[in-house]
Amino acid sequence: MADFDADVIVIGSGAVGSNAAYELAKQGLSVILMEAGPRLPRWKILQNFRASPRKGNHNDPYPNLPYASNSFTDGYLENTGSFDLRPGMLRLLGGTTWHWAAATWRFTPEDMKLNSLYGVGRDWPIGYDELEPFYGLAEVELGVAGSDTQDQSGQGRDLAYPPRSTPYPAPPEADTYYFARLRDRIGAEGYNFVHEPNARPTVTYDGRPACTGNNNCMPVCPIGAMYSGNMTAQKAEDEGVQIITEATAYNLEKGEGGKIVAVHYKTPDAESHRLTAKYFMVAANGFETPKLLMISDVANSSDQVGRNLMDHSGMGLQFLADEALWPGRGPVQQGGIFNWREGEFRREHSAIKHALSNNVPNKMIAERLLAQGIVGTELDEKIRDMSARFVDVSTVFEMLPHPENRLQPHATRKDALGIPTLSINYDIDDYVKAAVPVVKEDYANFVRIMGGEVIEDDTGFQNRDHIMGTVIMGDDPATSVVNGECRTWDHDNLFLATTGVIPASGLINPTLTAVALAIRSAQIIAKEI
Ligand SMILES: Cc1cc2nc3c(=O)[nH]c(=O)nc-3n(C[C@H](O)[C@H](O)[C@H](O)COP(=O)(O)OP(=O)(O)OC[C@H]3O[C@@H](n4cnc5c(N)ncnc54)[C@H](O)[C@@H]3O)c2cc1C
Ligand code: SF4
Repeated sequence: MADFDADVIVIGSGAVGSNAAYELAKQGLSVILMEAGPRLPRWKILQNFRASPRKGNHNDPYPNLPYASNSFTDGYLENTGSFDLRPGMLRLLGGTTWHWAAATWRFTPEDMKLNSLYGVGRDWPIGYDELEPFYGLAEVELGVAGSDTQDQSGQGRDLAYPPRSTPYPAPPEADTYYFARLRDRIGAEGYNFVHEPNARPTVTYDGRPACTGNNNCMPVCPIGAMYSGNMTAQKAEDEGVQIITEATAYNLEKGEGGKIVAVHYKTPDAESHRLTAKYFMVAANGFETPKLLMISDVANSSDQVGRNLMDHSGMGLQFLADEALWPGRGPVQQGGIFNWREGEFRREHSAIKHALSNNVPNKMIAERLLAQGIVGTELDEKIRDMSARFVDVSTVFEMLPHPENRLQPHATRKDALGIPTLSINYDIDDYVKAAVPVVKEDYANFVRIMGGEVIEDDTGFQNRDHIMGTVIMGDDPATSVVNGECRTWDHDNLFLATTGVIPASGLINPTLTAVALAIRSAQIIAKEI
């Protein structure tokens, strides 16, 4: 040990990196957890939110520091493709799950065999059975509330699916009136509503209070009921992990025999430091992980680092129903319509999920009405009426990995530390476009069934904040960056812990899966050290 600063250095303290560090420490290893951003208490973030005039910007209460740019820092992300991909991404201890929506679905066995079953995209190199026990561990750490009896494939079968060997750690929350009324009416016409498992326990859990349903999950849960990565970072520290904040890794140093021997990082004053370890895990999210590999010139013998970029780029519909539904009570999401999750159609077009967003719509409606010149009593009445009847459908598409959808360190731009910013090239392919008519037909049905009046039928593609594919997992070193253990093909002591390894996007939010994979990688490393 004396020859190394730690057994393992984990770079990035988001939900994924913190879970890796915590698991490594539980397995008895010495661990350093390195984080580019600062450490902030929840009360400070909450205070920032209350003081902010930009309540709709989820990044606003969080630090946006010159030495730790986030995705909305001016000039940090440059898009060169046809789509402006700009996912939310935070830089502080705990990472982006400070302001996520906490949806914690599992992929299905079919999602992981997309190419074998439907002849498109890629298969995962591991099967659902191999990941299943680690999904269970991840759900326990995140405190997931979910239904043990639902068919999450959306096919309306009378069975719990995908298979589980352990129950959800917390029961699902009660249906909101909004969700129940939409399910009653739209569900009656063959649309299968599925409850969303989410990391928002319905009971006091692991030092967290039960969710009280106040609908502030994005940008911050004021009481810490919703899971965020800092919770596990704290547990990791209590378990002996050394946390170094305000430390931006900018170089992975190669040594003999294809090993990584050290990480170099910069403090906010741009001073450089070097730390050594036996193993390294890069958990700097789906954008910064490939960037660090590329600027270090490691793990890229396949030339796939930064390529195969996938989001769940989606569409949206907002309309007024013919009855008051009172959205905005309870958590921001409760589930959605999954009819288009599984089936032979996946040969021809993307799988489709319609999530029912449950945000408080008053601000958005008031801004629209004011823009139309409506003021005074009429404004008050309309806000009350429209906010009560507002329905917000947020659709996501399954994406396929394409090498030309990629991110790269910017050729000329650098941040305050002298580290390159990011350049992204991203286009939406025909597989997704072929699903658009299906979505439009569904939208027409939803509006008809709910006696609706359309406010915004925005059929342009939208960001969905789910970065995948950028350090893609596979079973061939020539076409992938990591193997099924998330170990880089090129360096046997370098593992990647990120949603970026996911090779087939399915249509579910990716974080739980990355956490499950990271716990699995940590156990593999612990067996080797
Ligand atoms: C508004 C919103 C809603 C979302 N909702 C959901 C949802 O419901 N379900 C879901 O599954 N996903 C959701 N996501 C996506 C989810 O937030 C991410 O998948 C998740 O945070 C990824 O975790 P991570 O640990 O890999 O990365 P992050 O949480 O981004 O953490 C990475 C950490 O690494 C640090 N870092 C980066 N570069 C370096 C470096 N060079 N050196 C040192 N440290 C570095 C960063 O500062 C950061 O703290 C949502 C995202 C947004 C923006
Ligand atoms: S609904 Fe309120 S208490 Fe529940 S997770 Fe969201 S913000 Fe936290």
